[in-house]
Amino acid sequence: MSEVSIDESLQRIIDEIVAPQAATVDAEGAFPRAAIDALGAAGILAVTVPAEYGGGGAGMDVAADVVRRLAQACASTAMVVCMHYSATAMLVAAGHEQAVRAIASGDHLTTLAFSERGSRSHFWAPVSTAAADGDEVVLNAEKSWVTSAHEADSYVWSSTPLAADGPMTLWYVPTDTPGLSIPSTFDGLGLRGNDSCPVTAVDVRIPATDLLGTDGTGLDHALAVVLPWFLLLNASASVGAMQALTAATRDHLAGTQLQHLGQTLAQQLPSRTRLAQMQIQSDRSRTLVEDALAAVAAARPEAVLLVLESKASADQGVAEVSDLAMVACGGAAFRKELAVERRFRDSRAARVMAPTTDALLDFVGRAMCGLPLLGDV
Ligand SMILES: Cc1cc2nc3c(=O)[nH]c(=O)nc-3n(C[C@H](O)[C@H](O)[C@H](O)COP(=O)(O)OP(=O)(O)OC[C@H]3O[C@@H](n4cnc5c(N)ncnc54)[C@H](O)[C@@H]3O)c2cc1C
Repeated sequence: MSEVSIDESLQRIIDEIVAPQAATVDAEGAFPRAAIDALGAAGILAVTVPAEYGGGGAGMDVAADVVRRLAQACASTAMVVCMHYSATAMLVAAGHEQAVRAIASGDHLTTLAFSERGSRSHFWAPVSTAAADGDEVVLNAEKSWVTSAHEADSYVWSSTPLAADGPMTLWYVPTDTPGLSIPSTFDGLGLRGNDSCPVTAVDVRIPATDLLGTDGTGLDHALAVVLPWFLLLNASASVGAMQALTAATRDHLAGTQLQHLGQTLAQQLPSRTRLAQMQIQSDRSRTLVEDALAAVAAARPEAVLLVLESKASADQGVAEVSDLAMVACGGAAFRKELAVERRFRDSRAARVMAPTTDALLDFVGRAMCGLPLLGDV
């Protein structure tokens, strides 16, 4: 599929499905199934799958643009797709042909199952287990947050290793595997259509061939493969939200009269100043993400640092921009009609999605000082 036809299909899906359904997805906490099905049918869920497996063969820059544009309309849909592309990258890197061909067909949604009840946001230290039993592996886990938990077809799953040294091993786990259960539904502050639920595994048996990479090297893969995709796509979602918030605020300020003064809100200095701060923050995060994507593509030496910076910056940026929008648009933002309050609620998630902003600031400082990202300093 060419970039032009992706562009046209994506815009049609956003205009006809994602944007019109965003308020309902939020109000009802409903998974955006119609949008995901349409994105699958249009080849957009397969756009990053290499052409040799039947996918679109596109890179991270195209995926980041898809997620950014979805987030302008519906943050929940964008985050489901962000998780799908991040997990797909790992399945491609591991050469799991069955899974990758299924994703290329357009009707297979995947996601990341890293966070656990025991180690919480410290995804680099799973406490769940994997035990060898002949040709099978038995998984036991209490995953704390899995986006698309009920709706995905597969999870990219972390555990402690079978036998090797090292903190982590990764697995491909189809979601219909017996022993998996979802103990609760998602009723969150924001990203309410995400279906981000806990998932429990009790003696879940998968073929030993569903190992991704090698036993004990999961953290290396998580850091080298999954992390750049997740960080840059998550940051792109925040950029899309900032752009939508800034445009909505500009339109409200320009179109709202103070009748007794014969002036618009845009003619009031504090309103314009807030709008300017939003635009600057939005452009700052966007340019950082674009530079990080270029650095990754060119394998520039500072790529790792820029990737880490991108989500830390966008996490804080989207929180700040949504806060400014709530004040700049006043009471109108407090109601539903501008969708500012929805985006304000959605924007609270980025800082606590792992790696959290706290963890990223630590990682950035470590990278600058030549220290390992993880471990004792
Ligand atoms: C909407 C949503 C969707 C999600 N989807 C997924 C998903 O699909 N897959 C997945 O694997 N996970 C997912 N997560 C989980 C996410 O990645 C984090 O693991 C989770 O939000 C962390 O919450 P917690 O309460 O466990 O954090 P905690 O670990 O309890 O942390 C609470 C706070 O303390 C800070 N903190 C913790 N330890 C330290 C430290 N050592 N130094 C400094 N600060 C620290 C954290 O930064 C955080 O701000 C999702 C989360 C959300 C909110």
